Formats: sequence, structure tokens, C-alpha cells
Amino acid sequence: MKYKNGDRTMIFEITEEMLQKIQDWDSCKPVDVSGAKFAYTFVPTGLGLVIEVQCDICKGVLNLTEDW
Ligand SMILES: [Zn+2]
Repeated sequence: MKYKNGDRTMIFEITEEMLQKIQDWDSCKPVDVSGAKFAYTFVPTGLGLVIEVQCDICKGVLNLTEDW
């Protein structure tokens, strides 16, 4: 996944562990045929990278930030 930050392009990976965490957290059925239902937000901060996932169906937000 690529993230544009000014003129720098940063690449973030969603790990297997994160996917597992997301699956455990949300069990909504995707409404769209592509199966896409999550919006990922990457926010670089002074403390590190904040990663949030929002479910398009129930609008729940999961914070995946690790290693703070
Ligand atoms: Zn959901």
C-alpha cells in the first residue's frame, strides 16, 4: 500500500497478523462484489505511525498501531 506524504511516497504493509486482527474484530459481510469493506488510514506522527482501519459497513474503527 502506498501513501503519499508531500513529495515522499511511503509504503506500508498490512501484515498477516494485522489481517488476522481485523478478521477477529469485524465480521460484517461485504456488500460489494469486490469484497472491499475497509478503509485504511495511515497517519505519521512524531511518535510513530498510527494505523486505523474503518469498516464501511458498521463504521467501526480499529486501531492497529503497534510498537509505541
Ligand atoms: Zn463492520
